[in-house]
Amino acid sequence: MSRFWSPIVRDLTPYVPGEQPRLEGLLKLNTNENPYGPGPHVLAAIKAEVEDGLRLYPDPTAERLRATIAAYHGLDAGNVFVGNGSDEVLAHTFKGLLQHEGPLLFPDITYSFYPVYCGLFGIAYRTVPLDAALQVQIEDFAPDAGAIILPNPNAPTGSVLPREAIERLLLAHPQAVIVIDEAYVDFGGESAIPLIARHPNLLVVQTLSKARSLAGLRVGLAFGDRPLIEALERVKDSFNSYPLDRLAQAGARAAYEDVAWFEDSRAKVIASRRRLEVGLLALGFEMPPSAANFVFARHPRHEGAMLAAALRARAIIVRRFDKPRIADYLRITVGTDAEVDRLLAALEEIL
Ligand code: PMP
Repeated sequence: MSRFWSPIVRDLTPYVPGEQPRLEGLLKLNTNENPYGPGPHVLAAIKAEVEDGLRLYPDPTAERLRATIAAYHGLDAGNVFVGNGSDEVLAHTFKGLLQHEGPLLFPDITYSFYPVYCGLFGIAYRTVPLDAALQVQIEDFAPDAGAIILPNPNAPTGSVLPREAIERLLLAHPQAVIVIDEAYVDFGGESAIPLIARHPNLLVVQTLSKARSLAGLRVGLAFGDRPLIEALERVKDSFNSYPLDRLAQAGARAAYEDVAWFEDSRAKVIASRRRLEVGLLALGFEMPPSAANFVFARHPRHEGAMLAAALRARAIIVRRFDKPRIADYLRITVGTDAEVDRLLAALEEIL
């Protein structure tokens, strides 16, 4: 700590992303990356940009990218915001849209970045406990909410709410901005994007890091009514008016053009998730049904910390959380079938 630090920095608990292993042969199932690389169309677009574009500044409005994504969803480009990963889009959202008189509400348990941003931006928040089955209950969000944010599917549980439940939440809180973080929606959720036309208080956040396999390119999105998007643009322009570099704009656009690759990749992940769930159930694990590219599982007779350490000793990394209620759960990213089999074999040996 330094006496030059501002009080807010002194009190921050920064978010720590998952371990980044460098060892050869390590199986990395801790940060929900896609086991399949991006498709050839994306690689060709990035290569062309490397060869021709790096001398030039990127388009600060990312207009072609926003138009491509808007067309994919049947929206206007003015309804689409882009940023460096959905973490940055969320940061702009917390700063520009979630600071209100009433408290910000989000589930307990949920994405661990939310309280970090509240600390960074001085936002008052209250958490809403999950029910006994680790599900979010829409009715538990109190009427005094100034704003609400929740992932759907939720992280790290993988549980999903139908679009109809999101609409009930919107109808119950017409005065509050409601942010649905759809990082994992392509693996089994129903996007809330079609509700934007009827609900000016809805912001939907998505990422290209998961189903589109571009975590390394850092591209996140927000969709909403024009005034909400304008708030994000104001915040962005006050920090850094170039939202995405040229490689990210070119690669992301190509990812939305290659629908066949996207459909194939997510279908494979969903099929391997089933293989992982069936294998874990056979070993005695319990888990809520997952609509994401990970499962959240615990074994009734073995501690989570022991299991994670034993997997680590076998060169497999999964994610575990130190919160008391979920300390025995492992969050395991869905890999290829071969990776799923390697994990299951290791667990069989440990149990
Ligand atoms: N939201 C949720 C719920 C997540 O789990 C993640 C990934 N850790 C993100 C947002 C951020 O993803 P990215 O910044 O790669 O878009």
